[in-house]
Amino acid sequence: MKNSYWILSSEEKKNYESLNRDINADYLIVGGGIAGLTTAYLLAKENKKVIIVEADEVGFGTSGRNTGKVTSQHGLIYSTIQKEYSSEKARLYYDANEEGLKLIENIIKENNIDCNFKTVPSFVYTEEDRYIKDIKKEYEICKELNIPCEYMNYIEGIPMSIKGALCFKNQGQFNPKKYVDALGKINQKMGVKIYENTPVVDVNIDEECLIKCGNNNVIRAKNLIIASCNAWYDGLRFFFAKEEASRSYLLCGELKDEISEGNYISVEMPTRTFRTCKDDKERNLLIAGGYDHKTGKCDNECDNFRAIEAFAKENFHLKEIIADWSSQDYISSDNIPYIGRINNEKNNVYIITGTSKWGLSNSSVGAILIKDLITKNKSKYEDLYNPSRLKSYLNVKFLENNVEVAIDYIKGKFISGSSELPNKDEGKRVSINGKRYGAYRDKNNHLYIVDITCTHLGCELRFNSGEKTWDCPCHGSRFSYKGEVLNGPALRPLKAYDEGKNKIDPKIL
Ligand SMILES: Cc1cc2nc3c(=O)[nH]c(=O)nc-3n(C[C@H](O)[C@H](O)[C@H](O)COP(=O)(O)OP(=O)(O)OC[C@H]3O[C@@H](n4cnc5c(N)ncnc54)[C@H](O)[C@@H]3O)c2cc1C
Repeated sequence: MKNSYWILSSEEKKNYESLNRDINADYLIVGGGIAGLTTAYLLAKENKKVIIVEADEVGFGTSGRNTGKVTSQHGLIYSTIQKEYSSEKARLYYDANEEGLKLIENIIKENNIDCNFKTVPSFVYTEEDRYIKDIKKEYEICKELNIPCEYMNYIEGIPMSIKGALCFKNQGQFNPKKYVDALGKINQKMGVKIYENTPVVDVNIDEECLIKCGNNNVIRAKNLIIASCNAWYDGLRFFFAKEEASRSYLLCGELKDEISEGNYISVEMPTRTFRTCKDDKERNLLIAGGYDHKTGKCDNECDNFRAIEAFAKENFHLKEIIADWSSQDYISSDNIPYIGRINNEKNNVYIITGTSKWGLSNSSVGAILIKDLITKNKSKYEDLYNPSRLKSYLNVKFLENNVEVAIDYIKGKFISGSSELPNKDEGKRVSINGKRYGAYRDKNNHLYIVDITCTHLGCELRFNSGEKTWDCPCHGSRFSYKGEVLNGPALRPLKAYDEGKNKIDPKIL
């Protein structure tokens, strides 16, 4: 997997040991991204004993691979929430995300975190006349909700022909990897125990939560907080059916000319998002991205890397491209994350998922919400983010998504494999003795053959040529060409050719 500019420019390397024995936990958090680390921070401040397990390294998930905008402006979210729910809920979403933004600012100030945090304006813009009305509508709704904002006919200092934009002042941007790295260390100083390279591979939830980790160690936890970006435990809430994995592509390039500081995102599709920052040598850098698609649903991922490069080169004077990478997040069916108790029966299992590409402020909201449920048994945001809310099932997107999943599932079973093995640096479905496998041959001529039936719910995986991974078009799990889990909801790796058939997760429900 390609590494992000944030990961490449952060100094932190592996900091924490792996779990090598069975342990007990009062509060077990699964996931060392911004959601898990912020929740741990707030719980540790309340003198709770917290353990974090992380499959990879802290900050190597989506939290270290995003655009680093910390803002309560999330595209045209306020018209969406007002239409789907009410003005009160739309305003509450704003209050929640402003509180999330303030929490991040306070944590940075209180702990002197060097993560290049800057206060900047955020803009949602269009270059096309036909989208002006959508931005104007968002502006009117924001005014009605008393959200401070400004409508603009153009944006100064941006080399694009902007036709209309909505501006939220006093928003933020930072280096997200530096922030989560620092949060890890602060947590550790406050007594939070962090284990890296400790993936959860199985779970048994009853009165207590029995969590089995990769090397067969078991954690017996009184409370479990799933902060893994996706929902690998479902609690009968069908998260796999009501959130969609979406990948986007980003690059970092050195700019010849300065452009106005700010967070920018287009209304038109494919989405284009960009911002600037400076590196340690005071070079002006552009972070630009977009070109989202559902995971496992792109014919050639290499084209998306090329498209984002073309967008950056067409619009900005770039000296060089420093890094490019892709990353994924999980989009809820109504664009509001699922945060809170996993269901009404289990009082000791909490989740933060469906952060819908706006998880920096929203994960901080998640941490506040879960801390309040644990310490006060209530939160003012509980209802808005309720993972069991009815409307998350009763909407067109939910139906469309699941019809598509059913079609992909069936289609996948009928696609046969090639009788020819792949060439160097090529991956494809192959047929060996009448059985279908996935094969990838690396540049050194090593051949990797794995069973490509997803270990989550049994869909057939597709090869991602941009990242050399096997991706699930149904629920977004991703595996390396060797079979290791890169993104959930799958918990188990793919079996190699000589290891037999994959086992589909029997406990997903
Ligand atoms: C391209 C892109 C750009 C974005 N830009 C922005 C932005 O500018 N502003 C914004 O607000 N949001 C943005 N987002 C969204 C934001 O980055 C995410 O919503 C947020 O980082 C999610 O944080 P997290 O802690 O939930 O997930 P992660 O950072 O992914 O952390 C989850 C962790 O859980 C671990 N894990 C998973 N499964 C297991 C397991 N079984 N056992 C143990 N550990 C496990 C993973 O290894 C991972 O480290 C963007 C997203 C994308 C894809």
